[in-house]
Amino acid sequence: MKYILVIGDGMADEPIAALQNKTPLESLSLPHFDRVSHVLGKAQTVPAGVAPGSDTAILNIFGYDPRTYYTGRSSLEAAGMGVFLNPGEVSLRVNLCAVEEGVILSHNGGNIEGEEAVTLMETLVGDPRFAEKAEKLQLRIHITPTFRHIGVFRCEDAQAAFTLTPPHDVLGDPIEKHLPQGTLSKELTELMLISFEVLDSHPINQTRRSEGKLPANMIWPWAEARAAQLPSFKEKYGKSGAVISAVPLLHGIAGLAGLDVRMVEGANGDLDTNYEGKVAAAVEQLQNHDFVCVHVEAPDEMSHAGSMEKKLKAIEYLNERVVGPLLEGVKADFRLLLLSDHPTLLATRTHDGNAVPFGIYDSRESEKAVKFCEKTCDAGIFVDNGDKLMPLLFEQEEN
Ligand SMILES: [Zn+2]
Repeated sequence: MKYILVIGDGMADEPIAALQNKTPLESLSLPHFDRVSHVLGKAQTVPAGVAPGSDTAILNIFGYDPRTYYTGRSSLEAAGMGVFLNPGEVSLRVNLCAVEEGVILSHNGGNIEGEEAVTLMETLVGDPRFAEKAEKLQLRIHITPTFRHIGVFRCEDAQAAFTLTPPHDVLGDPIEKHLPQGTLSKELTELMLISFEVLDSHPINQTRRSEGKLPANMIWPWAEARAAQLPSFKEKYGKSGAVISAVPLLHGIAGLAGLDVRMVEGANGDLDTNYEGKVAAAVEQLQNHDFVCVHVEAPDEMSHAGSMEKKLKAIEYLNERVVGPLLEGVKADFRLLLLSDHPTLLATRTHDGNAVPFGIYDSRESEKAVKFCEKTCDAGIFVDNGDKLMPLLFEQEEN
């Protein structure tokens, strides 16, 4: 038997007036999703009292209850970038953001990537004023060719040191309202303000503005974390596996759980990601592994961007270009679990902690079709914690 997990990040939503009070999933015709209906239900992927996000939700889906295993998002991402923390060290996610007239307009610097992102960050890290402050904090920044970077520094009491705000939660707000709090607030705020001075007028940002793009002109630290450790997925379930995703968070969870990470060229976490490449990689991984996870970030990013049209498109692509080809492409008996890790609401442009719809397809059973959406899944089974989903997929007793 082979097992597939397809995560449409943030695709669940609430009814929307512009969609005749239907949710995006409900409003679309998604014939391949509808085939994933041998088991239907809702799952509480984010336990009550835990902040909803892909970090907490996906840990739980893989079987690691965030109330036990979650030490903060950035240590998972750091692991995904090959950066492992020493005891007493704390990691931060450092986003490149777009800020105009004191208001944060984008948590990803207008989705800056490649050489532009690297050059801006190298310019910043090399700036003498920034370097001096960073050295005082013993802060080192690991730069990536994306808007996502990782900072690591020594800090014995991260809880007192800072309270940080996820930038995607405060889009459109004055940054003043959301600057770092805590004993290190002054130092972190200074670093942010210096970054604006260094980056705002940088030639790369001048060019971006002239092309109608948002600048990537301020760093935003958030997602503080201590080192994370996870028990082996293989030992837990007796299944070997691989994870296919564009985002470091998934690579980190995979690495810490002992799952392989298969990188796919052109997989970028955006609407124009390489869907076909991901499917081909998944089918290939199943030749040597029992389990593969295909994660698609686009519905979440489009929800944060507040674009209903693009969110709908992302879900349609997931149906046509991922789930359809997977259902046809696997040549062994298999079960496929399809879900949204957490809802991301177009209305608020942020995550929500409500239960998500899920479905399981089983190639050994005869085909059926039931509309895959929040409403129909409500009528199915209820999984009260996300860590029961893998046993359900693997047809195992809960462990
Ligand atoms: Zn998100």
